[in-house]
Amino acid sequence: MSKNCKHCGSNFTVREEDKVFLENNKIPEPTLCIDCRERRRLAQGNQLYLYKRKCDLTGKEIISNYHPDSPYKVYNQNIWYSDKWDPLEFGREYDFSKSFFEQFKELGLAVPRPSLHRGFQYDENSDYTNYAGKNKDCYMIFDSDENRECYYSYSINSSESCMDCYRVRGSELCYELIDSEKCYNSAFLQDCINCSDSYFLQNCIGCKNCIMCSNLRNKQYCVNNVQVSKEEYEKQRAKCFSLKDITDGNKYFNSFKLKFPKKSIHGTQNENVIGDYISGCKNAYHCFDSAALWDCSYVFQAFNPLKNCMDIQECGDGELLYESAFCGYGAYNLKFCSHCLGTCSDMEYCYHCPHSSNLFGCIGVQHKKYCILNKQYSEQEYKELIPKIIEHMKQDGRAHGASAQVEQESGSASCSYTEPKNWTYGEFFPAELSPFPYNETIAQIHYPLEKDEAIKLGYQWREKNKEEFKDATYASLNTIQGVKDNVTEELLKCAVSGRNYKITKAELALLRKLNMPLPAECFFERNNRRNAMRNKRKLYERKCVKTGENITTTYESENPAIVYCEDCYLSETY
Ligand SMILES: [Zn+2]
Ligand SMILES: [Zn+2]
Repeated sequence: MSKNCKHCGSNFTVREEDKVFLENNKIPEPTLCIDCRERRRLAQGNQLYLYKRKCDLTGKEIISNYHPDSPYKVYNQNIWYSDKWDPLEFGREYDFSKSFFEQFKELGLAVPRPSLHRGFQYDENSDYTNYAGKNKDCYMIFDSDENRECYYSYSINSSESCMDCYRVRGSELCYELIDSEKCYNSAFLQDCINCSDSYFLQNCIGCKNCIMCSNLRNKQYCVNNVQVSKEEYEKQRAKCFSLKDITDGNKYFNSFKLKFPKKSIHGTQNENVIGDYISGCKNAYHCFDSAALWDCSYVFQAFNPLKNCMDIQECGDGELLYESAFCGYGAYNLKFCSHCLGTCSDMEYCYHCPHSSNLFGCIGVQHKKYCILNKQYSEQEYKELIPKIIEHMKQDGRAHGASAQVEQESGSASCSYTEPKNWTYGEFFPAELSPFPYNETIAQIHYPLEKDEAIKLGYQWREKNKEEFKDATYASLNTIQGVKDNVTEELLKCAVSGRNYKITKAELALLRKLNMPLPAECFFERNNRRNAMRNKRKLYERKCVKTGENITTTYESENPAIVYCEDCYLSETY
């Protein structure tokens, strides 16, 4: 049966498989559509914006994704994870005269938060990274692990000397790669594997010394999908290294690559899946940017295997997770949890509680059991209190839910703000409990909103800081030749947003090695552009161009791409 989303009013269905999962875990059915649920989870994380601020315990200057003006207390990571403070000191009795979410909000303002989410114990010289770990000499990489000398990238893993990449793995000396792996000394590749010394490729595997090619396998010296001499390749290659040539090259390649068929889904070794950019999954429905999912639905950006999970943003190595974001490394039976990493089990409504079990409504609690709102209970007390709290949340929600319903029926199908008191058991943390301004979270990348829309939904918003939009002291040169060492002292201005940015010494050295020009845009615009080059996390029904077979794909009907079903694509491109 189809339902109306409480936020946007659109129709959505709860599948039979979802109902079984929800019933088995005693979870009420969702009241928001798939997109609004995902947006609510994404809004919990500021991955890209970093600030200098003070540690609220030591007063020392630190780097954090919490702005200095944030109302939250922030401790440097090494302090936060130490025994220099006690999260249980902030514990409080559950108050049955107030809503759960109001109490959780109050607790949240009292308990300190870690400055960043990175594996600081294993990182070397990688202070400006977040949602990242085991990196060495890296700068401005996010959602990224085990890299060396990589800069300005999102979801880059096990790579070295790469810059401006998006979802890249096991690559070296690469620039502007998207959804590619095991590539070497290449630039402007998308959906490529095992390619080297190549520029402007899409859907290529095992290619070497190729330029402007699509859908090739194990070729060498090809330009425009035509075999050429080594000399012709060298001649073409010389046109890949200036700002102007790169702009022209992108423009040409964007229309050239339309001539080649696309596979309905990005990914391999899947069985019974619907989604995109997924590999090695079995029984996955509406899942994206993930690998090794088993019996999962609505999972986005899983970083390690997941089993039997529903409504997930960026979790990994977990089982039986529901409506959770940024959790994993041994997670079992978590509901409505955010940022709970490291052997966590049987927890609900927890925020940043590593290595714990049987917690409800806790923040910052570490290595503990049987706590509610950061207050310690005995096992028996805990087990008696939890059903009462859940029942209270449900009654509370019902008492306030009636008014929310009237509001919806009176015709406002557009986004409308729902106060925390209107939320009930079964919902993830509402907008008002997002610790970050909406336009700093990754929700803004996937579900962009204008300021008034975000405020209407209950989110915070960060105004532009005029200090970051000054005049440039330097105009980018067309090539890297002629760029002097002292460019690192200059202020550049983004050609798209006008935001200032600087060039670091390490970045300059890598750009020289890659022979690439200084970027003309700031990192945030570069990252947005790469994200926009991938298919959105939306599914459409289409027909295979060859056989007319029905396919579910992220290529929308208006997209001029030639889309084949998996079998047809493989028979033609092997
Ligand atoms: Zn919705
Ligand atoms: Zn087909």
